Amino acid sequence: MSGTLYLVATPIGNLEDMTYRAVRVLREADLIACEDTRTSRPLLSHFDIHTPTTSYHEFNKIDKAEELLDKLISGQNIAVITDAGTPGISDPGEELCARCIEAGVPVVPVPGAAAAIAAVTSSGLSCRRFAFEAFLPKDKKKRRRILEELKKETRTITIYEAPHHLRDTLDELYEALGDRRISLARELTKVHEEHLLMTLSQAITHYGDNDPRGEYVLVIEGRSIEELEAETRAGWEEMSIEDHMDIYLKQGMDKKEAMKAVAKDRGVSKRDIYQMLL
Ligand code: SAM
Repeated sequence: MSGTLYLVATPIGNLEDMTYRAVRVLREADLIACEDTRTSRPLLSHFDIHTPTTSYHEFNKIDKAEELLDKLISGQNIAVITDAGTPGISDPGEELCARCIEAGVPVVPVPGAAAAIAAVTSSGLSCRRFAFEAFLPKDKKKRRRILEELKKETRTITIYEAPHHLRDTLDELYEALGDRRISLARELTKVHEEHLLMTLSQAITHYGDNDPRGEYVLVIEGRSIEELEAETRAGWEEMSIEDHMDIYLKQGMDKKEAMKAVAKDRGVSKRDIYQMLL
């Protein structure tokens, strides 16, 4: 019988956010794989958890996953924790989870705090549909591609950011997305918790006058669907009906289907397209 991998969420600042279940699972596990054993030590001591620990972090996550998998297969129960929040969310956990699933080892989440969820739900922006972007890539080309994709994103966007990059990121977001509403969730669950709901230009001005401090989640309003549709329609209208029809005919549609698709793109009736083609 193999053991179980537990992905255990820990607080993102306030120790009261530790769940009863997290404490029990961490006490009962054979081993706790910590992102940083020194960072987790005070948390484990606070909750009187004396389970042996080992390190499992960004730089050993592939090799160490195999070692941990062997222990799981041999019957040990292992809990993964990170410095804060939910494993796998911009933190180690994903690779080991995937390896366990491949190997038929049970994986059990022990849910709790995650900064993105706390930020989006308290932002005042729509949390019905949202996209989690984690940290924007550092690589310039990849970053530009993501920002380009985000221009069309109609869901609320959540981004993690460090204080020393905040000003540059706000400038880039303003340039790419325009003057959208943004909620800056800072130091969630901690003493200096702050939520600022403003526009991107106001945020740039605010952080021109104030130094960014602490940890941030940026929650940005998605693009309005109506605006996006109007822009796409305007794009089609720049094209002749014949060229527009050609796109669908080349995709294998018959003339009737193509007329229907063209009419839909342009927000007019099929009859209008028929008339225009005549
Ligand atoms: N696994 C974590 C989670 O579940 O949210 C995220 C870890 S990621 C390495 C760290 C980033 O999460 C920070 O740079 C910040 O953007 C965000 N974060 C973590 N704790 C936070 C807090 N208390 N307030 C605001 N943002 C936080």
